[in-house]
Amino acid sequence: MTAKIIDGKAFAARVRAEVAGHVARLKADHGITPGLAVVLVGEDPASEVYVRSKGKSTVEAGMNSYEHKLDAATSEADLLALIGKLNADPAVHGILVQLPLPKHLDSDLVINAIDPAKDVDGFHISNVGLLGTGQKSMVPCTPLGCLMMLRDHHGSLAGMDAVVVGRSNIVGKPMAQLLLGDSCTVTIAHSRTKDLGEVCRRADILVAAVGRPEMIPGDWVKPGATVIDVGINRIERGGKTVLVGDVDFAGAAKVAGAITPVPGGVGPMTIACLLANTLTACCRANGLPEPE
Ligand code: NDP
Repeated sequence: MTAKIIDGKAFAARVRAEVAGHVARLKADHGITPGLAVVLVGEDPASEVYVRSKGKSTVEAGMNSYEHKLDAATSEADLLALIGKLNADPAVHGILVQLPLPKHLDSDLVINAIDPAKDVDGFHISNVGLLGTGQKSMVPCTPLGCLMMLRDHHGSLAGMDAVVVGRSNIVGKPMAQLLLGDSCTVTIAHSRTKDLGEVCRRADILVAAVGRPEMIPGDWVKPGATVIDVGINRIERGGKTVLVGDVDFAGAAKVAGAITPVPGGVGPMTIACLLANTLTACCRANGLPEPE
């Protein structure tokens, strides 16, 4: 068997075009332009790349992008003061604080200072609680993108066995909540899970969010399963730096029914979902119907 490749790049381009269309209508009909503020503290090179690409995509979708680059030594009080200003600014509908923050800053405190209605990353405890209880919330972008690809591929996910490897607050746990919300039978695996291969082999849907290059071999994949590879790992191969996922793509693609590639799978969907969340936040703030 050769797996169908789930083209996250093409899917994300469709989502972005839909968002851009909606933004254009918001402007024409209501004179409103959604705005996303991204806050970066320090000079982590990977974070700088992410922030730049988020800003560029925001502008391409017709939204306003506000970038706040703060010195690595910025105090917690100053960062909280900036968040307070952004919370109060009616032109800002979404606020994203790029993680990880420098060690002297308490990320939980900072994230929970964001107005939950503007928390487009969905990391505020209010949004986590709303998602966990099946209420309307801001849903974290990476798991939301994974769910959209799964729904697009399968239609209903009801009754499927889903295994999520990784239990982080930003990917693993919200992913599991979303799959549960779609009536999957969900297992969350992590570094202390026994017989991980055996657990993975039960999965109709296998989501890998670990951060270990190609740690999931093809023989952990159930024949015909759908594999969503969230991992982004930089490794040296053949004298070059290449990006690989948490799944051995070549091995898994021989067994799976469908699989996301790295790059070009989950990554592009994450940014598309950030734009969609900003649009949703803007519509909610203005009492307008939300995009589907
Ligand atoms: P974290 O480091 O926060 O979490 C990793 C999880 O993997 C932990 O729960 C950890 O378990 C588990 N784990 C580690 N080693 C093993 C192992 N040997 N067996 C089983 N489980 C293990 O990572 P994130 O969730 O933030 O990110 C995961 C990956 O996804 C990374 O590669 C990251 O770059 C990528 N990512 C990609 C995004 C995208 O847009 N495509 C967005 C966000 C992340 P334990 O809790 O027990 O330590």
